[in-house]
Amino acid sequence: MSEQKSSLYEEALKPLKKAAAVLNLRSDVTDVLSNPERALIVSIPVKMDDGKIRVFTGYRVRHNTARGPAKGGIRYHPGVCLDEVKSLAFWMSVKNSVVGVPYGGGKGGITCNPKEMSQGELERLTRGYAAAIAKFVGPDQDVPAPDVGTNSQIMGWFADEYYKIVGRITPGVITAKPLSIGGSEGRGTATGRGAFFATLEAVKVFNIPLRGARVSIQGYGNVARPIAKYLHELDCKIVAASDSKGGAYNPEGMNPVALADFKDRTRTVKGFPGSNEINTEDPITVDCDILIPAALESQITKKNAENVKAKLVVEEANGPTTPEADKILHEKGIPVIPDVLANSGGVTVSYFEWVQNRMGYYWSAEEVDEKLKQAMTRAFRDVYETAQQYHVDMRTAAYVTAMKKIVEAMQSLGRI
Ligand code: NAD
Repeated sequence: MSEQKSSLYEEALKPLKKAAAVLNLRSDVTDVLSNPERALIVSIPVKMDDGKIRVFTGYRVRHNTARGPAKGGIRYHPGVCLDEVKSLAFWMSVKNSVVGVPYGGGKGGITCNPKEMSQGELERLTRGYAAAIAKFVGPDQDVPAPDVGTNSQIMGWFADEYYKIVGRITPGVITAKPLSIGGSEGRGTATGRGAFFATLEAVKVFNIPLRGARVSIQGYGNVARPIAKYLHELDCKIVAASDSKGGAYNPEGMNPVALADFKDRTRTVKGFPGSNEINTEDPITVDCDILIPAALESQITKKNAENVKAKLVVEEANGPTTPEADKILHEKGIPVIPDVLANSGGVTVSYFEWVQNRMGYYWSAEEVDEKLKQAMTRAFRDVYETAQQYHVDMRTAAYVTAMKKIVEAMQSLGRI
């Protein structure tokens, strides 16, 4: 475990401490909020294609369930560790509260490299993980979804294994499933669509002209591609994009759909026709108007924050900005739509999916999109107004908004 990883949870708690000071929270209440309710570690033996057994480590963390069942994705990545999953679960409590879905925070993950595994190995790993945590998940207690390295097929395998174990078809156990087994319209693009709606509100209040705005994106996966497309449709220019192998830069702008097709074919955006090669981290500091970190955590750091030239940062990734970098951006007057607000569209449509699963009645793509727009617009305005009211930055405002609701729920339950 690297030094940085071991302190990620402590870093994650810093905005909570700030919000606690603004709200004058009692220190024992802050203690409750600073600790996850449960952290589960499981071993998953998997028969690999070569016939040998390999044991993987999986996690599922439940941060706080005062506002409802835990909700949060499952990450498959070599860097997954307890500290990271705890941080991600905590962020989910904040995010669910900010956007107003009736959930607590949860997160899971397996330390593995899905890029080096066959489909059969991934299926056996997912089924093993589902079996190992089955007692602790379910529509009324903890509802997983995808995150980095997982997708709707993995959700389908997880659901199937869970149904077999509990002997009931309960599609609400997991979200972002394929449409054929109870997925929701609009879930595939929901995080990007939600970040887009938040961006539309932000450019109004921060006076950033959208037409011709230059957009730079770090990471070009699930969450990055839709927002690139929607912004391009409003005449923004996608001037830079990168992935784990490298990046592409073209000050004239790149077609985001062609860029996605290119990456699907070659597995990287590097070498996209007409672009110059840049490094994975270069999108953070290129000349642009809107910077969208959409890869992993701790990418905008005290080393590069001073060189950020954007007029607005939209955090699609979870935790992309370290607290030191956050301070630098604030001093430079660069507004940030914090992750817990900007990327909450994914969990919002996951909530819609769970509601539809429980009703057994499904909405059209237009209905889902309209409800998502309303939720994101309301959440942005709540956070922005809180920032004005308390004279704090948008991240602190998001945590203040969230903590008020979580504390109220804990009080209503008599937990504090
Ligand atoms: P993904 O695996 O589809 O995409 C991640 C992208 O980041 C890939 O293109 C990868 O190559 C790139 N990447 C990895 N390391 C990089 C590096 N060092 N520099 C540049 N690029 C790098 O994952 P995703 O689902 O798009 O998730 C991305 C982020 O968004 C994560 O922080 C995740 O927690 C967050 N998020 C995802 C969802 C969702 O619905 N999928 C919802 C909320 C938040």
